[in-house]
Amino acid sequence: MSDRPLLNRRLAGMGTTIFAEMSALATATGSINLGQGFPDTDGPREIAQAAADAVLSGRGNQYPPGPGIPELRAAVAEHQQRFHGLGYDPDTEVLVTAGATEALAAALLALLEPGDEVIAFEPFYDSYAACIAMAGATRVPLTLRAPSFRPDLDRLRALITPRTRLLLLNSPHNPTGMVLTGEELAVIAELAVEHDLLVVTDEVYEHLVFAPSTHRPLASFPGMRERTVCVSSAGKTFSFTGWKVGWVTGTPELVTAVRAAKQYLTYVSAGPFQYAVADALRLPDSYFADFRADLQRKRDLLASGLRAAGFEVYEPQGTYFITTDIAPFGETDAYAFCRELPARCGVVAIPNSVFYDDKEAGATQVRFTFCKRDSVLQEAVSRLQSLTP
Ligand code: PMP
Ligand code: GLN
Repeated sequence: MSDRPLLNRRLAGMGTTIFAEMSALATATGSINLGQGFPDTDGPREIAQAAADAVLSGRGNQYPPGPGIPELRAAVAEHQQRFHGLGYDPDTEVLVTAGATEALAAALLALLEPGDEVIAFEPFYDSYAACIAMAGATRVPLTLRAPSFRPDLDRLRALITPRTRLLLLNSPHNPTGMVLTGEELAVIAELAVEHDLLVVTDEVYEHLVFAPSTHRPLASFPGMRERTVCVSSAGKTFSFTGWKVGWVTGTPELVTAVRAAKQYLTYVSAGPFQYAVADALRLPDSYFADFRADLQRKRDLLASGLRAAGFEVYEPQGTYFITTDIAPFGETDAYAFCRELPARCGVVAIPNSVFYDDKEAGATQVRFTFCKRDSVLQEAVSRLQSLTP
């Protein structure tokens, strides 16, 4: 064998995701895993039952239709109308994907030419850097800075060049919990129209938003519907992250382009789960309100525990993550801290530093998730009290 590296240059350094690395560390050390974002209780029982019924009654056990089953496409369109007042045609403007992950990959692979520039907030969700690289494009970070993590929109304007093809937006934002305001979205929309940019919006946390913040899709702003690929998924909203049912909404032209790439990634996926997610999207408003209220309570529980333990806490407006700063402990390296944390006190967290190109900006940021049972959060917090600032 030649000594040429097996992993190509585009993916160099991206061998194992930080989520896989830290979850493996949690398992190996028997630690409480507040790293990777997955709930430790499943979503609604009747939705799980709907998936089981679909399997046993032979619905979706063979390849579903390429764009997704009609029941789910209709439910996605109804959901966009019900929560956001956005009308999409289920036959031509909705595409079902293998989670938001595939939707993002397919959108970027379909819409980008090598050499195009993509502006995205950093810290980036990890698959963004990988997918932009796989498309041969260049990522251009707009750095969100503590303590507010609000985007500097003058800076955004300055980052746009003739090579900028696409904005990749994530709000509510993982890992910081920042939620874009209506005013910020309006400015971003104007810039996108002025510079004729495409936009991909990652809205997987659309229902995980805490009052008084609210989530508004960028596609609902003037001039945006025709240039926005809206991405979401069932994982976070319904606490079934393993089902990997996601979707894209957009104009027929955009959806057709994304489908062209998607059909050669998985072709189709999650047949029986598609039926269950169609039911989930039609759950009454009370489901969404109760879910949000429960998470908000968990956020407050973890935030106060982390503060008491000596962390600087940046309270999130959305998502199920809290970003903290470990500088009060005299720490300077979030990654080293997270590798040592299991041995020090039996807890696993995620170093946000790995999601930044600007290593200074995130050097001491550590993320904890609160989508866990109260008893688990309480035990984690009590273990973290043993760290001394
Ligand atoms: N985008 C963001 C910001 C996320 O946090 C996640 C979490 N997994 C995803 C996309 C991927 O979602 P899915 O599990 O539906 O692929
Ligand atoms: N989105 C989840 C998180 O941010 C992880 C999903 C994954 O491991 N790909 O923790």
